Amino acid sequence: MRKKHELLGYTSMWLVAVLVLIALLAQSVGDARIVNYSGMVRGATQKLVKEELNGQRDDALILRLDGIIDNLQTGRGEYQLNKSYSGAFQTELAELKSLWGDMKTEIDRVRVGEAGGQVLFEMSQRHFELADRVVMSAEEYADRKLIVSISFYLAVLLFSVAIYLTVGRRGRAAVEKSLYSDHLTGILNRAGFEAAADELLHRQPGGEYCLLEFDVDDFKFLNSTYGYELGNELLCALAGALSAAYHGAELCARLDADDFVVLAKRTGREQKTLRELLAQALRTPQLAGVGEFVSFTTGGYEAPAGERVQTMMDKVSLAHTSAKAGGRGCTAWYDARLLERIQQESQMNNRMARALEGSEFRLYLQPKYRLDNLEMYGAEALVRWDYPGRGLVYPDEFIPLFESSGSIVKLDFYMLEQACIYLRQHIDSGGADFVVSVNFSRVTLYTQGFFAAVLDIVDKYRLPHRCVELEVTESAFNGIVEPVVDKLAALQQKGFSVSMDDFGAGYSSLHLLDKLPIQVLKLDKEFLRENSREERVKHVIAHVVELAHDLGIAVVCEGVETREQMEFLRAAGCDRAQGYYFSRPVPSETLQVPKRQAEPVG
Ligand code: C2E
Ligand code: CA
Ligand code: CA
Repeated sequence: MRKKHELLGYTSMWLVAVLVLIALLAQSVGDARIVNYSGMVRGATQKLVKEELNGQRDDALILRLDGIIDNLQTGRGEYQLNKSYSGAFQTELAELKSLWGDMKTEIDRVRVGEAGGQVLFEMSQRHFELADRVVMSAEEYADRKLIVSISFYLAVLLFSVAIYLTVGRRGRAAVEKSLYSDHLTGILNRAGFEAAADELLHRQPGGEYCLLEFDVDDFKFLNSTYGYELGNELLCALAGALSAAYHGAELCARLDADDFVVLAKRTGREQKTLRELLAQALRTPQLAGVGEFVSFTTGGYEAPAGERVQTMMDKVSLAHTSAKAGGRGCTAWYDARLLERIQQESQMNNRMARALEGSEFRLYLQPKYRLDNLEMYGAEALVRWDYPGRGLVYPDEFIPLFESSGSIVKLDFYMLEQACIYLRQHIDSGGADFVVSVNFSRVTLYTQGFFAAVLDIVDKYRLPHRCVELEVTESAFNGIVEPVVDKLAALQQKGFSVSMDDFGAGYSSLHLLDKLPIQVLKLDKEFLRENSREERVKHVIAHVVELAHDLGIAVVCEGVETREQMEFLRAAGCDRAQGYYFSRPVPSETLQVPKRQAEPVG
């Protein structure tokens, strides 16, 4: 709309300039005609007098001269001469006209022989001088007018050019601004950041800088759960806090969606400063109830002086990607080791599909025991990757990778199927009731069709649903619970049991316990590492157990490595346990499961 107005403005401005030019040209043509006709009056009168003195009459010429003089005086007449507004010209013309009147009387007298012609001749001399002055006045006037007109025209032209340039510059600045800044938050965008960083680093050639790139964990999820408006609110709050802190010799930008970058002077505390700033930005009334669940994943790079901005950006982006594979809230710094790891990780991700087809993922089972009678009642399914050329690779190395690439979903269902195959064989070979628990990543949990897929796989092997337990890590319940609760409740309805894994490792979800459809609470192994404060831990465990029991939830503790720990858990009222004390995870085919007891006869 503004562009249209500007175009209209330019066009009319140039149109006015052209019209002014045409008017000026017409004017100067008119002025030239006045000069010409004045000259004609001068010459024609001389000719007429000569003819009259020679006895030749020329009434037509007299009439013509009358007409021209009248036209020059009034601006009206058949000669279409403009009226000249020069005062000198008009005065002299009036004088000339009066002399011309006298001359005509004298001509008449000469014609009838009343006069000899001497007077007429003298009159014609005077007339010539007067006419000469008239011509000169006309010329002077025309020249003056031409100069004034040209000056005026040049001024209009200059003015137009000046306006054109100013508006053009303003337009260019506006275009630049829209190209270089982020529409939502108003801070720099990627292109703007690259240009500004380039300029800044040129201005400070020896400056020691650090680049930090971060994003909001699970931003898509926040958006879809709380709505885009809140998502935008969050982004604007972050951008506002960043731009207030990083300006002048430091920069910040929103690169894309929930990705931000900061170019900060190196202090050694850059990351801490940024974290504090972001935490502060989340404490606004608009973000109440959401801000406390928001976390950030960060990549960092300490750039050496003189490096190109683009290279710096590539490196920090690699660090950021690598941090994301580490999970929520992680930070990774770019260095040579990281590069090597990234290459290895990308190899793993690329191999994933082939590994599934080639059965490189192995089902390991770690038995679980009842603490009252120390009987094995089930096992946890744990994946191992038999990686060609590397041997067994443990899940911590690839699960986070697969979570960020999304391929974890396939792996989780693959492991569920392996567990089902195992259980089918176990039942078919007369095994006692046995429960295999399968780990499900929060990524898998949030996929569409999760419920149906679990049901399909388990039913394909005609297994009683009570034999399959789903282990869902506690962090899956952070903040955003409703969709998870519905899915798990539906599975529970179908007879599956659900276990909350790693309880106590992250934020404690004690307040959620009564709202969640879970039958088992799995205490994180870290509880048992807190030896120094044993009494206190015991107290906490006892308290959690009591609360869980009140809600009809069984408690299992993982990571039991010693007899003391086992005794300790038993004393604390814990129901079940799992850990190296009992058994390490073993290949499923080597697990010794108790057989079903023979039915009592009779
Ligand atoms: P987790 O679910 O907490 O599994 C328990 C981890 O603790 C296992 O590590 C197990 O080997 C280890 N562990 C068991 N007993 C002890 C002990 O007494 N002491 C110590 N220090 N550790 C013990 P693992 O097998 O390396 O698995 C690591 C994590 O990978 C698992 O933690 C689980 O979160 C994940 N994971 C494993 N398999 C799968 C899977 O099929 N799908 C998904 N989504 N995640 C899986
Ligand atoms: Ca687990
Ligand atoms: Ca665990």
